[in-house]
Amino acid sequence: SIVVTGATGQLGRHVIEALLERGAPAGDIVAAGRSVEKLADFAARGVQVQPMDYADAGSVAAALEGARRVLLISGSEVGQRVEQHRTVIDAAKAAGVELLAYTSIANADSTGMKLADEHKATEALLRDSGVPFVLLRNGWYLENYTEQLPGTLAQGAVAGSAGEGKVSAAARADYAHAAAAVLVADDHAGKVYELGGDDAFSMADLASEISEATGKAISYNNLPAEEYVGLLTGVGVPEAFAEILADSDLGIARGDLLVGTGDLQRLIGRPTTSLGQAVRAAAASR
Ligand code: NDP
Repeated sequence: SIVVTGATGQLGRHVIEALLERGAPAGDIVAAGRSVEKLADFAARGVQVQPMDYADAGSVAAALEGARRVLLISGSEVGQRVEQHRTVIDAAKAAGVELLAYTSIANADSTGMKLADEHKATEALLRDSGVPFVLLRNGWYLENYTEQLPGTLAQGAVAGSAGEGKVSAAARADYAHAAAAVLVADDHAGKVYELGGDDAFSMADLASEISEATGKAISYNNLPAEEYVGLLTGVGVPEAFAEILADSDLGIARGDLLVGTGDLQRLIGRPTTSLGQAVRAAAASR
């Protein structure tokens, strides 16, 4: 079977859909996550559903029993992820899987972003594990920006600390299709994919795309990282997360999320969703 962890999340849902689109038999797919009630629609379509909490090694081992291939979608509980991922890697080893794909971060070898620390540690665990693996080093999601559209329009500006840096963001659905392509094919063990959108953009580019799509004048307001943290906490973002976001923007300023490999376009077999397309779709669905 093909086991997808984090299947209850946004990327995971797209991966299950993409596997089905690529012709993987529903009964051969295992959708695993904590809140399995979110997977009822997939179960109704014949997908196997398994409860899995990374903090409960027994549930991880049970979900991976008989697994041939596994997609480990990195967890969302920052600070606990290395141990959680270790649990999945250990279970994959015990199950004798032929391929473990892991959603890492773009430029994991060189990035200075704090958010990358747990991904680097997980990659090291994979290298030491002896399990055949493939790294899907995902860049930023376009949705990180398009989901902010209502707030951006209310404030009349995109705010951040990314300076003139460019980011190769891509749609979750595109990363998901790449993951599905890797999971259904036979020749990806040992590969490292640097995944990002075809056309990198700056925050000023983002602001002008939003202006064009909405007819409202939106500017980019570049702030020192401390001020950006203050702005985020002021609108209710928890301090620790605000600091991660500001640190990530400093990474964008350095080019840490710039990807020029074309790997994503090659894996999905078509151009990636552009910033303009994503912004127009988000503006139209307001
Ligand atoms: P979501 O927050 O939508 O999904 C996170 C998934 O992780 C959920 O399925 C959640 O399951 C699962 N999860 C978290 N903790 C545990 C746990 N202890 N045990 C089992 N499952 C757990 O994120 P996305 O789908 O959008 O993104 C996937 C991952 O990509 C994120 O988890 C994060 O690592 C990373 N990410 C990447 C970004 C980018 O721009 N590239 C931006 C944000 C995150 P449950 O439903 O049970 O809670």
